[in-house]
Amino acid sequence: MGTESRATYTGNDSLLRIEDLKMYFKEGKKYLKAVDGVTLEIEDGESLCLVGESGCGKSTLLKCVAGILKPTSGKIIFQGQDLTKLKGRKLLKARRKIQLIFQNPYASLDPRMKIIDIVAEPLRIQGVPKDERRKIAVETLREVGLPPGVENKYPHQLSGGMRQRVAIARALSVKPKLVLADEPTSALDVSVQAGILNLMKRLQRDYGLTYLFVTHDMGVVRYICERVAVMYLGKIAEVASKKQLFNSPLHPYTQALLNSVPIPDPSKRKRRPPLKGELPDPLNPPSGCRFHTRCPYATEKCGKEEPQLLPKNGRLVACHLVNQD
Ligand code: SF4
Repeated sequence: MGTESRATYTGNDSLLRIEDLKMYFKEGKKYLKAVDGVTLEIEDGESLCLVGESGCGKSTLLKCVAGILKPTSGKIIFQGQDLTKLKGRKLLKARRKIQLIFQNPYASLDPRMKIIDIVAEPLRIQGVPKDERRKIAVETLREVGLPPGVENKYPHQLSGGMRQRVAIARALSVKPKLVLADEPTSALDVSVQAGILNLMKRLQRDYGLTYLFVTHDMGVVRYICERVAVMYLGKIAEVASKKQLFNSPLHPYTQALLNSVPIPDPSKRKRRPPLKGELPDPLNPPSGCRFHTRCPYATEKCGKEEPQLLPKNGRLVACHLVNQD
């Protein structure tokens, strides 16, 4: 199936299906609706990027899928099983196939542990015997391009790029199906970012991995993703293939986001209104379409009625203007 035709699929190939997911946090007498009714599918073997400004809920959504946060409601169906309903060994078994790579390799690796123990840790949790897990850990460190001897070092003895390779090795050691990556290159020097992205691309091909990538960097999106979901204030605004998104973004928010991306020849930039104003307070989101306070095309209806995420020209868009005909 081509990327274009599956931009909106509701397919049998879904590895992960997130259904009407909500993650609310109580703050005083109000609820911060960080994720507010998100439905999203990811096909086996693809890479989907979740983009949006910081505070839009994308990292919270990732943490729900990773099991770090317990969602307020909704389903997270992975390989046909709803993770929100699983317990005990069944949950542990399913969780083994989902691994998370954090944004900051300086903070995510325990400074008191040797590299070999960090990489072997998920295997220990899964009950793999000591000798076997050390063997797998060493093999995996080589697989991510780290030299012999690194296993006996501590995180502070490694560069940022090497630490992120350790974090990738830790995720890879349990042979996951789905890798969740939260801005995996944003804390790294530009000079090492490409190396990490190249590694992740090769591992995806060699191990048949599926990626759910959270990023605000459209350069990363362009390089690694096949489909893109755009999030705004806890909701999905548009889901499209990468080609559709970069060539003809439909949602005004997507258009504004792309407007802020540097391009080699600015004279070739399509004329679109820039993104104005700050992200509204998520504790007090605007009524109707949440983007209406910043949207150059907003009408009276936009402030009253919430637009639904509907199929349009081979993608999904939540906008009254786009979906009116
Ligand atoms: Fe803009 Fe209205 Fe579309 Fe929201 S629904 S993006 S306010 S035109």
